[in-house]
Amino acid sequence: MGMRAIVEDAWLLALGNANAVLLRQGRDLALIDAGFPGHEKVVLDAIAELGLRPSDLRHLVFTHGHPDHIGSAAAIVRATGARTYMHAADVALAETGGPFRPMSPAPGVVKGIAYRLFWRPRESMPPFEIDQTIADGETLPIVGGLRAVHLPGHCAGQVALVWRGGRLLAGGDVFMNMMGLGDPIGFEDEAEGRRSQRRLADLDFGAVAFGHGPAVTEDAVARVRRAAARR
Ligand SMILES: [Zn+2]
Ligand SMILES: [Zn+2]
Repeated sequence: MGMRAIVEDAWLLALGNANAVLLRQGRDLALIDAGFPGHEKVVLDAIAELGLRPSDLRHLVFTHGHPDHIGSAAAIVRATGARTYMHAADVALAETGGPFRPMSPAPGVVKGIAYRLFWRPRESMPPFEIDQTIADGETLPIVGGLRAVHLPGHCAGQVALVWRGGRLLAGGDVFMNMMGLGDPIGFEDEAEGRRSQRRLADLDFGAVAFGHGPAVTEDAVARVRRAAARR
């Protein structure tokens, strides 16, 4: 439960109302993002389900430093000893646990409501240390290769992570997949966020998992390109 296969060796985990992605290469595991606080058991159960041990989770990589993507990180690191990776622009968010930088709501009534319901920039998260920063274009030599593409706008330190040459893309909150592919709830810089949406749509990938909503495994590139073109 709480663990859904996306493609071979990749699973979507629901950590509250936010996703994490678990990747496997042999006995090595990497987790992308760490959800809301209090959901570390979902991750530990998934590791056990695969017949592996907590210490087999070697890497914890973040698409960005928002509270709904780092909430359970401190507890996961304590339980597994995983090495942590984040873009330099967001490291201070993880290491202080907040407050978070301001965002403006994305256009539209529904996004405005979601923004008011879910965006809590002054809430604080359990802080933890980032062991290694990730830069645009860098490929981390872990779980078969994880290439970072810097896509700011929603959040200054946001990266998309291209796994195994495009088998799967972890797209963070560049878009979200709630009631179809659309904008995240807000932007730090909307113009930059639009450029990042178009840049993500130019990547090549077989499937994509965003931070919110189900993964897209059919016609993923075409669907993302349509969503980017609507904006
Ligand atoms: Zn976010
Ligand atoms: Zn999010």
